[in-house]
Amino acid sequence: MKNEKAKNDGVRVRFAPSPTGTIHIGNLRTAFFAWLFARNQKGFFLVRVEDTDRKRLDEKAIKKIFETLNWVGLDIDEGVHLDKSFKISQKGNLGPYIQSERLEIYQKYIQELFDKGKAYYCFCSAERLKKVRERQQAQNRPPMYDQKCRDLAPEKVQEKIKNGEEYVIRMKIPKNEVVKFTDKVFGDIAVETATIDDQILIKSDGFPTYHFAVVIDDHLMKISHVIRGEEWIPSTPKHILLYRFFEWKLPKFVHLPNVLGEDKKKLSKRQGDVSVEDFEKKGYPPEALLNFLALLGWNPKSNQEIMSQKELIEKFSIAGLHKAGAIFNYQKLDWISGQYLKNKSDEEILEKSQCYLKEYFEVDQLESNDEKIKKIIAVEKPRIKKLSDITENFGIYFKNIEYQKDLLKWKDMGDADIKKALETVSKIVSEADLSSLKIFQKTVLASIGEARGEHLWPLRVALSGQEKSASPFELAWILGKKESLKRIKTALEKVN
Ligand code: GLU
Repeated sequence: MKNEKAKNDGVRVRFAPSPTGTIHIGNLRTAFFAWLFARNQKGFFLVRVEDTDRKRLDEKAIKKIFETLNWVGLDIDEGVHLDKSFKISQKGNLGPYIQSERLEIYQKYIQELFDKGKAYYCFCSAERLKKVRERQQAQNRPPMYDQKCRDLAPEKVQEKIKNGEEYVIRMKIPKNEVVKFTDKVFGDIAVETATIDDQILIKSDGFPTYHFAVVIDDHLMKISHVIRGEEWIPSTPKHILLYRFFEWKLPKFVHLPNVLGEDKKKLSKRQGDVSVEDFEKKGYPPEALLNFLALLGWNPKSNQEIMSQKELIEKFSIAGLHKAGAIFNYQKLDWISGQYLKNKSDEEILEKSQCYLKEYFEVDQLESNDEKIKKIIAVEKPRIKKLSDITENFGIYFKNIEYQKDLLKWKDMGDADIKKALETVSKIVSEADLSSLKIFQKTVLASIGEARGEHLWPLRVALSGQEKSASPFELAWILGKKESLKRIKTALEKVN
């Protein structure tokens, strides 16, 4: 309760996903910025489900969206969330927070618009609208509703309704005005109403359109800042006109720049993974993904790239947002993620990698290789970028390795030199104590003296069969004496 009192009711922001599929990484960034702003301002973060597009609705998507929000750990103050038993649930006094449960509310407000003369019934068929559009396109004019039903006589309207004609309800966009607003990121925007379509507010299935529901709900839920993607800028003037019709106070508008692929086009599947689920499946730590997303379109005014959630909350400001599209750089994500993984304990990595390990091994194999897996984690941890990388190199440790003889060669060594080096290291390994990585490394280095490359390269290749791998000491420590000696012997057979 004490906490609630300290909250700032002047800042209320929402994330409003539409359950038409899984969460796109750009949408998660939107949610995170709204959340950061709410936490920075000690305000409220709400989640509202916008499910009025019944044609595109995917029932399974709702659950998935909330599982994803749970996975990244964005806590909510009001709205829709998963409860302790992972069921969709709602909290807060201004609900329901699922639009399909608010139809009566929209009915009430559409009536108010009728009373104010700001809405009208439209009976035009889809075929007619298509023809109108085609005609406009042929004349190089933007496709817009030609307002045929805008001034239908009230008796005519009643008659059509009585006859059961299908209709939608449209908004009466005023003529010859300019709608102006200042976006917190994109600055001053002015749009002539002549370019704004008479937007459908209620569809023929009785559901509101996004444009109508978003305004009603943002107002009733006391949203102070509408934070959403830049693609909604062209819709904002319509929303502003609705606020004006109702004589409601406008929220502040904060549009976030698009997330772009390396080709500077809006990030889509062509460039790689875009669904948050895909990043989860690959084993990116959620806090690393959020850290990375925070830097997409927001400048923390420092060069520090790894920031804890606490630091992000402290530093976040709308003033630090910029309007240029933010490029999604997968290498940078990998780097940030690698930094987070490096700082995790081996135990945590092991625990969180269970799903990848179970995919790789049969259950009994998993148990019998327990020690070896722990060693691999200790060695590979600084190199992995995501948890699924752990099993990527498992082939080296658990399968027969294959490689060409030439790979054993360091600089201009000949077969005889390689043979000599391998014999030397074979002897060292056979006599060494491999229980401690440090001691083993010391022993090898002391025994080979100056000629490091000449011994360590062939040894490393003999143990890994790879051009790049962990160090020969680490490899031998993981593989154990018997397997290491066996692999050196195989290498020797190649040069004999
Ligand atoms: N339901 C909309 C979407 O999924 C939300 C847009 C908004 O935040 O106003 O993009």
